[in-house]
Amino acid sequence: MILVGVMIATLWGIGWVMGAPVRARLIMIGILMAGVMIIQLTLPQGHPLREATGSDPRLWLLLVAFAVAVWLYRRGLLWLRDRARPAPDEPASKTGTFGAAELSRYARQIVLREIGGPGQKALKDAKVLIVGAGGLGSPALQYLAGAGLGTIGVIDDDVVDGSNLARQVIHLDARIGDPKVFSAADAIRAQNPFVEVRPYNRRLTEEIATDLIAEYDLVLDGSDNFATRYMVNRVSARLGKPLIAAALTQWEGQISVYDPASGTPCYECVFPEAPDPALVPTCAEAGVLGPLPGVVGAIMAVEAIKAITGAGEGLRGRLMIYDALYAETRTIAVRPRADCPICGHSAPV
Ligand SMILES: [Zn+2]
Repeated sequence: MILVGVMIATLWGIGWVMGAPVRARLIMIGILMAGVMIIQLTLPQGHPLREATGSDPRLWLLLVAFAVAVWLYRRGLLWLRDRARPAPDEPASKTGTFGAAELSRYARQIVLREIGGPGQKALKDAKVLIVGAGGLGSPALQYLAGAGLGTIGVIDDDVVDGSNLARQVIHLDARIGDPKVFSAADAIRAQNPFVEVRPYNRRLTEEIATDLIAEYDLVLDGSDNFATRYMVNRVSARLGKPLIAAALTQWEGQISVYDPASGTPCYECVFPEAPDPALVPTCAEAGVLGPLPGVVGAIMAVEAIKAITGAGEGLRGRLMIYDALYAETRTIAVRPRADCPICGHSAPV
């Protein structure tokens, strides 16, 4: 009996040292026990081998029965746990079809005639890049994630500052000092686990812009400087990607969809020259109303959804200006310029 116990311990120890899976070790011990049982049941009483492996087969039968009972109990528990766990929606989500939880989440939007099932599917399949996780990027990100946009990339090299929180409501007080894209990505994952969010904690430079923008179907520019706006416009126009760009000052915001591939102007057609930086006060100098980026960023999300689903009339060829102080909205027509260095006839091909 002691001999068999030592053999079991040795088999287990060898398996452990070799890193063999538990299942393999149990099979080896099972074979050993089967051998012991054969010896006990076939050899006559008093045989030295039978004596060495324990004299009474009933003791072994009891031990084996106990081991089988423990195994069956464990299997039963696992089976019950699997039955109690609801089927996850995640795999269905990855294959491009909607699970029940997703359908219920987007039900109010799917009911809209202009969106419907095909529009919701187009949103799920779409990839949008958001430049800037600040005032405009944050609400655009939140509403696009809420609406079921499949893949959202967000690029920014800034960290959350206490002075951001009055308007960049995606970021929490506890995240001050953290990179904005990671704070935003965590918020989006908590908001909608069906959305794939890709944070890029770096500045969008000319070197990486082409490769990055090429991965996406649509670009939303909520950056806070003219150099980035012109560069995003240049690269998006070259790649034929529609660009939704917005900007804010104090009480006023403006937004348009720039899509020269569809015969409408690019950003540089409408704003051919960046104003002298000395004459343009920054948000920090001029101030900005807290909810204003929320309004204009949400319009960016609306225009993105329309561009992806083909619903309604987008802001291609139109510039929308929202004046919060006087509660007025104006929309003016904008035209492509033949001499635009980016999209005009003289533009380099
Ligand atoms: Zn142009």
